[in-house]
Amino acid sequence: MSVIKAEVLGYCMGVRRAVTMAQEALKAARGMHRVYTLGPLIHNPQVLEQFRGQGLEVLDETKLPEDLESVVVVIRAHGISPQLETALAYKGAHLVDATCPIVKKSQMKARFLTDAGYCIFLAGERHHGELIGIQGYAPACLVVADPGEATKQAETLYHRAPTTKTALLGQTTIAPDEYQGIAKAIQAYFPHLEIIDTICKATRDRQQALSQLCPQVDALLVIGGKESANTRRLLAIAQAQGKQAWLVEGLADIPPEICMYPVVGLAAGASTPDKLIDLIEKALSKGLNPH
Ligand code: SF4
Repeated sequence: MSVIKAEVLGYCMGVRRAVTMAQEALKAARGMHRVYTLGPLIHNPQVLEQFRGQGLEVLDETKLPEDLESVVVVIRAHGISPQLETALAYKGAHLVDATCPIVKKSQMKARFLTDAGYCIFLAGERHHGELIGIQGYAPACLVVADPGEATKQAETLYHRAPTTKTALLGQTTIAPDEYQGIAKAIQAYFPHLEIIDTICKATRDRQQALSQLCPQVDALLVIGGKESANTRRLLAIAQAQGKQAWLVEGLADIPPEICMYPVVGLAAGASTPDKLIDLIEKALSKGLNPH
């Protein structure tokens, strides 16, 4: 069997940076201070397990302890709201801000537009950590998940305040056609809508690399966490191209029938570590039965 890897795969800049910052925070704490992340650092069970073993604990933001004196809290790549940041600092936590710079840019833009009097439409998954954080910078924003919701919200706003200045921001991982659809729905009521390009290239690059890989292979393994939205999207893209494809979190998930395919492609989500990709590539290249 031969194995071809997608040209772009695995850790994006923001995730790699957050993982490195968490490792450095653990090293600096030298077991003398507790180190937390707010929610899981990344959507990858192996990496999380490894971090747990090194003493990194996960903090639930809805149940913050009263006293966080001498505690280190790593803010993950999704970022958090300024209100939560203040609450953590007030409780005495030492913050390590691993918010992805691209997400930070969206947060700053949301604050700037709010201060400039814009009504912001925020496109994406309402309960995603990134969107919750951005909403803290634009408390009056309207979150819209799809064009249908965008139409409803824009219509209501138009009847209430037809001359409002409006702007559109999106989740960094939103699909470009979905973002355009939402923009079009709002423009039907607010033609002067300011559309801010907040889509991260990392997601697009991994999707494009996978699309280029599909015609060259007989089957595909998409490596990544089942909880990772961008990994699941890669799987859907491969399947939409008519490829037999599986999402695998580790060696144990590799389906035995993969051995029937002469050329196998490998793709990986933005939170998949290089080590895991190498491990799976080696197992397949050696023609080893992974079980
Ligand atoms: S996908 Fe993009 S925005 Fe999200 S963490 Fe990675 S680099 Fe940052």
